[in-house]
This record gives sequence, C-alpha cells and structure tokens, in this order.
Amino acid sequence: MKQLPTTKLKDHNSFSVAANCQRLFVLEHLQDLAQLTQTPLHKPMMLGAGTNILFATDYPGDIILNRLQGRQIIDATDKHAYVRIQAGNNWHESVIWILEQGLSGIENLALIPGTVGAAPIQNIGAYGVELSDTLELVEAWDRKHMRAVMLKANDCQLSYRDSIFRQQADRFWILNITLKLSRKPRLRLGYSGLKQKLDSMGIANPLPGDVAAAVCSLRREKLPDPTLLPNVGSFFKNPIIDNTHLQQLLQNYPELPHWGQGDASSKISAAWLIEKCGYKGYRKGAAGISDQHALILVNHGSASGIDLWKLAKEIQNAVQLEFKLSLQAEPRIIHSS
Ligand SMILES: Cc1cc2nc3c(=O)[nH]c(=O)nc-3n(C[C@H](O)[C@H](O)[C@H](O)COP(=O)(O)OP(=O)(O)OC[C@H]3O[C@@H](n4cnc5c(N)ncnc54)[C@H](O)[C@@H]3O)c2cc1C
Repeated sequence: MKQLPTTKLKDHNSFSVAANCQRLFVLEHLQDLAQLTQTPLHKPMMLGAGTNILFATDYPGDIILNRLQGRQIIDATDKHAYVRIQAGNNWHESVIWILEQGLSGIENLALIPGTVGAAPIQNIGAYGVELSDTLELVEAWDRKHMRAVMLKANDCQLSYRDSIFRQQADRFWILNITLKLSRKPRLRLGYSGLKQKLDSMGIANPLPGDVAAAVCSLRREKLPDPTLLPNVGSFFKNPIIDNTHLQQLLQNYPELPHWGQGDASSKISAAWLIEKCGYKGYRKGAAGISDQHALILVNHGSASGIDLWKLAKEIQNAVQLEFKLSLQAEPRIIHSS
C-alpha cells in the first residue's frame, strides 16, 4: 500500500472536476491489505476509475484507489467456466480477455468504463444484460466485522443499478469477483438496435466477439467519450413506476417509452422525460447536457462539481414539476448537505 504525494482527485474522476480528499492511497497488492486495515483511516472510501462519482465538494476523508490486478479461470465444467478477476482490473479489458478465452456472457457489457470491483456496486448493465446474469461470488473486506467475506451473488441484493454495496456504502471493499461464463455462446440480441447493427456489419451468424464489436460501435455512436467531453454516463436512473401510474401518464404522453418489468411495474425513459423538458443539449456555463443523449451531464471544461450538481437538481425539479416524478441520480454524489 502506498500513500500518494497528492490529495488531488481531478485525474481520478471522469467528470474531471477539481476536488481534494484528506489522503490518497493506492492498493496494488493483496498482501498490503493487512497493512491498510491496520492503518488509522478517516472515513475511508474505495475508488476505482471514478467514472460513476460526482465530487460536488471535497471528500472529507481518505480515498483508496483499488488497483489489484490478476485474472484467472479457477474452475470449469462441460458448459461453464468460472473466472476470478481482481477488483482493480479495467472492466472492458476484462471483457476482451474473457472473449479471448472462448467464453461468453458479458459481451453486451463491452466498453463500460471503470473497474471490475465497481461492477457489482450498481450491478452494471447495458444492451439487455446485467452483471447479475453471470456474477457468482464477490470477495470483499467487511469493514463492519473487520474480516474478509465471500458473498454469493444472491446475498448481494443486486437489482436495477443497486446492490447491498450501494445501500451500505463504504462497508465492503471489493477485492475480486467470480463470474460464471458459458463455454458455448448464449447470445442476447433482443435489445433494440443490436441485431440491426450486426446486420449492417454484414454478420448473420454472430459470435460473442461480433456482439462485443457491435455494442462498442453503438456505444461510440451514442455516448460522448469521457476523455474528450468529461461525463459519467447516465446521470439519472430510469424511474420504475406502477402500471396504474403509467396508464395515467400515457393518457397525456402516449409516446412515453416504457418497458414492462414482468410484474405490476414498468420502467420509463428518464432521457425522454428530460428531453421533453427541453434540456437535451442545454448548457449553463460549462455544465451541460449532451446533445447526443439527454441522460448525460457533461463538463464542457471548467465546470465545478457544484455547477454540475446544481444543474442536476434543476433538471430533477423540472421533471418533478412537469411529470410529478422524482429522478434519482445514478452516480454517487459527494456533497455537503
Ligand atoms: C461514458 C460512460 C458510459 C457508462 N455506461 C454505463 C453503462 O452502460 N452501464 C452502467 O451500469 N454503467 C455505466 N457507466 C457508469 C460506470 O462506468 C460504472 O458504474 C462503473 O462500474 C464504475 O466503475 P469505476 O471503477 O469508475 O467506479 P468509481 O466511480 O470509482 O466508484 C463508483 C462507486 O463504487 C465504489 N467502489 C468502486 N470500487 C470499489 C471497490 N473495489 N470496493 C468497494 N467500493 C468500490 C465507490 O466508492 C463509488 O461509490 C458509464 C460511465 C461512463 C463515463
């Protein structure tokens, strides 16, 4: 474990906002965990690549960057292989590595930025697949009981952009995850636009690598690159409402995109709600909304964390006023109140 000679977080958040913490540590080797857990820390927070966090203020505590490396196939049956990946690995590189091993199951999650250890925090999802579809185990340091724990996926309370790790923020430091992957491709091509993209690529019988390539191509078309236009991807979750409420909304807004959840509820498009309120492409100083995608807040250069947070609240208020719906932020927000 090493302490960095800086407390600056600008290079450690994809909004690229200036913020400080009290002390900044890096965890690169598992054998340093013991030293880390014995060091007196103040409000410690583990951070991956900072692609799902907004520092609206400084962080009033210590931050530990998880950079644990390593990936291996730990077991296999006729149909499946179990892969253990250390938390500090880059997620997308791990998807590619898994494809290179001839395994499939997470190709639809290609190009999601960030680290492997953060993937269970909000049960990352894209193109009809969520981490929960393949997650088997999470090994973590439980700060409440000061011991390492192995949590089965069922114990992680994974749901749409949520988990036990989010609900009990900073209790668990994720060390590695184990995925159960298919040795024979089981492709998920149902998500809107994916099949069409493969067709346009001239691929009639796709392999998992083709699906990953199609997903990457779609994502590059639709999402601003955070290295060019700093952002954290979707800033708001799609609201889930009961179907009676949905029917009322559809009377006034028949074009509102919605997806049944297989029970008495439906997910509705937060991007549509925001666009309808006139915010797509909107800009207030250097804080703005992408003109490619109404769910994505962007930093045009010199926005502060508080500028972005104020804009997010303005959008929440506008949606509340127009639709009587409350939008929940997807990234973690560090703020004083
Ligand atoms: C352009 C873009 C597109 C995106 N698209 C998607 C998408 O399609 N689907 C999706 O689900 N997300 C998406 N995201 C959000 C983000 O990529 C994911 O949430 C990702 O998992 C965050 O990884 P990270 O390492 O950057 O997490 P960080 O931002 O570093 O951390 C996020 C949270 O996880 C906690 N955390 C991180 N690592 C650990 C650990 N090892 N142990 C304990 N806690 C930890 C942090 O304390 C923090 O609360 C997108 C982001 C961007 C910028």
